Amino acid sequence: MGETRHSKVLIIGSGPAGYTAAVYSARAMLNPILVQGMQPGGQLTITTEVENWPGDTHVQGPDLMIRMEEHARAMGAEVVTDIITSLDLSKRPFVATGDSGTTYTADAVILATGAQARWLGLPSEEKFKGFGVSACATCDGFFYRGKEVVVIGGGNTAVEEALFLTNFATKVTLIHRRDSLRAEKIMQDRLFKHPKIQLLWNHTVDEVLGTDTPLGVTAVRALDVNTGAVTDVPCDGFFVAIGHAPASELVKDQLELHNGGYVKVEPGSTRTSIPGVFAAGDLTDHVYRQAVTSAGMGCMAALDAERFLAEHA
Ligand code: FAD
Ligand code: NAP
Repeated sequence: MGETRHSKVLIIGSGPAGYTAAVYSARAMLNPILVQGMQPGGQLTITTEVENWPGDTHVQGPDLMIRMEEHARAMGAEVVTDIITSLDLSKRPFVATGDSGTTYTADAVILATGAQARWLGLPSEEKFKGFGVSACATCDGFFYRGKEVVVIGGGNTAVEEALFLTNFATKVTLIHRRDSLRAEKIMQDRLFKHPKIQLLWNHTVDEVLGTDTPLGVTAVRALDVNTGAVTDVPCDGFFVAIGHAPASELVKDQLELHNGGYVKVEPGSTRTSIPGVFAAGDLTDHVYRQAVTSAGMGCMAALDAERFLAEHA
């Protein structure tokens, strides 16, 4: 049986929302405990250059997140390496159980569990995951030196992944289901100008093709959404970059959700459907989903929690 730790504020998640909530609640003398989860630093740890964090023209995502962690610790937050496996919000103090066996009780909870990569849901995608199929170019791009890769998606992530993969691959094919991208124009310009990148518009992927021994990808089967024609695009790696889904599993039966699983908050606040439980960042935001907006919501959540605790002392 593990130990029980009590805090006034328990912050679940270590992305920009969680660390900002930690900085603010530590400075409010609330002695927060922040549980980092399986991805310490959150989504920005799987990217390279971040160019839109105010104050930094260029910063590497992992470096920015190390700085945020150091900032939270320096202000007095306790940062814990653990994963919350269950959360009981039915009564106060709220009770969270960690994978380590530790039980965390708290007077207020800030949920900042962010989002996770979305997959196409194909059996062949599942079969080759880790053997040619990936959702993280920063993590796996290196394995495709001198090889050909395919990226699917039309948002900022897909364009960034495609550009990053040109550092390794001889050819990058970006497949998108429409004839225009939703990525920022500046990113699109870089993509269109790149000699190693080819675009396949109006196509989806309905199968990943490969070998069993050794397990590996040889092509993806692309389907023309207008004509139904099928084209096999040869590749050694297939990168899925079709967006992210909110990580609301812990609270899906306890809190009000909307827009496909995002935690619903009262407009203009971070208050969820349970008093004392606050949500910030990508977990609650299906519109902006940026580091700076997540950090802003982390700040709001800490201030909302502080007010709640003052009223319920
Ligand atoms: P996340 O960063 O998603 O962090 C979630 C945290 O919750 C993680 O630490 C995870 O470990 C933790 N967690 C989850 N479940 C549990 C659990 N059960 N127990 C404990 N902890 C848990 N935005 C920009 O503004 N600029 C960019 O250049 C940019 N580039 C990007 C590049 C890529 C490849 C991706 C994927 C995203 C990018 N974004 C960018 C978006 C940005 O990363 C997100 O908007 C931001 O990270 C969201 O922050 P967050 O704090 O809400 O959650
Ligand atoms: P996103 O903006 O939601 O884009 C997802 C893309 O995948 C869309 O183009 C979508 O097509 C496509 N798609 C979705 N489901 C699909 C399917 N089943 N099959 C084929 N294609 C599919 O996701 P994202 O690119 O991961 O970005 C998420 C958020 O992070 C955004 O707010 C983005 O701005 C932010 N971000 C910012 C930066 C940056 O600022 N540099 C970098 C990365 C991410 P449709 O276009 O047809 O819908």
